[in-house]
Amino acid sequence: MDLPKLVSKNWGKPESWTLKSARENGTYEALKKALSMTPQEIIEQVTKSNLRGRGGAGFPTGMKWTFVVKEKATPKYLVVNADEGEPGTFKDRYCLSEDPHLFIEGCLIAARALSAPAVYVYCRGEFYFQMSRLQQAIDSCYEAGLLGKNILGQPGFDVDIFVHPGAGAYICGEESALLESLEGKKGWPRLRPPFPANAGLWGKPTAVNNVETIASIPPIIERGGEAYARLGPPRNGGTRLVCVSGHVTKPGVYEVPLSITLESIVYDLCEGIPNGRKLKGLIPGGSSAAVMTADEIDCAIDFDTLKAKGTMAGSGAIMVMDDTVNMAFALHNVVRFYAHESCGQCTPCREGTGWMFRILTKIVNGQGTERDVDLLDQIAKQGETRTICALFDGTAMPVRSFVKKYPDDFLQLVRPAPSTTKPLPLTVSA
Ligand code: SF4
Repeated sequence: MDLPKLVSKNWGKPESWTLKSARENGTYEALKKALSMTPQEIIEQVTKSNLRGRGGAGFPTGMKWTFVVKEKATPKYLVVNADEGEPGTFKDRYCLSEDPHLFIEGCLIAARALSAPAVYVYCRGEFYFQMSRLQQAIDSCYEAGLLGKNILGQPGFDVDIFVHPGAGAYICGEESALLESLEGKKGWPRLRPPFPANAGLWGKPTAVNNVETIASIPPIIERGGEAYARLGPPRNGGTRLVCVSGHVTKPGVYEVPLSITLESIVYDLCEGIPNGRKLKGLIPGGSSAAVMTADEIDCAIDFDTLKAKGTMAGSGAIMVMDDTVNMAFALHNVVRFYAHESCGQCTPCREGTGWMFRILTKIVNGQGTERDVDLLDQIAKQGETRTICALFDGTAMPVRSFVKKYPDDFLQLVRPAPSTTKPLPLTVSA
């Protein structure tokens, strides 16, 4: 299948992470073009491109940047979320290790658009290798006049990039918790408003963008926003990286247009389900997304289509399960993760995720009842939209969808509910 490659075009080329190789591959040409444009013109191109955040929420990048530049307060900041903690997601790490210069170029164009003098890259602590590759690339840019003061000889275009390692909390991938952590505090999500675009890092207007989102900026400037938008369906421009794992013949990271279907990803790109098994279902956008059955996957992977299907495109992590999987066990695994990672600020999340995990543990150990299955759905439903951040909703969505779409997998593990209407004895013996 012939697919356009924008973000991953240099992956696998010899020493693709070095400045020499990056220049041979044309990196930093888009930056030169951006320097001939005003910040407003850059934002207009990004808005026209219909680029939506590749970290999970899918918020339009051009609109986010517009909110930041409208604020009067200075300085403004760009913070890049390189925490990549959503289970099943493994793409941003390749952007950093395989082509750090494309990413740095994206940071510089974004910094120019936002008039931001500093870029903070908040990196998952386990990404030691990726951080060292990125730092080497940053160091070579300082030596070559691509970072620091008067970049590429442009007076007043001064940008520094700082790499900040996280300490391994999933919740620090939530943008406001990430900002708290970056400020040296406990990584707890903030109440909103204010949103980071209005008052973010150290109370200043801040754009928080995902690694892949930023790496998509040079191709947009290079080819123009409208040309980029035409690669995808309406309101969902360009290409994105999907990480396919689980029961497929060829798992991996693929760059695809957002118009491609899930079915085509599973059966054409990944060459189907191995060992002659059948597809039972898949999670289309990271483990916070609602599960989809095998009958539902003939649809595009863009943000709007998957939302209309009751799930989400999320971080692009597609987890495939064949017909050997009992979905109660799969859900048990998902909920264990969120119960462990809840920060504990909100009662429905702190108590609810742990409660659902304990119920699921009973069910998969054969000690649950039918009533436990109903209770799972009730707990999930009652906590939805009642918490500070989306972690609880990201647990409720898989719980409710797994129980609704695969009831037999749960019911085959549980006992019938004991009757609550057992008649009392009519006579009492003396
Ligand atoms: Fe913390 Fe959960 Fe509340 Fe988010 S929803 S702030 S993770 S307790």
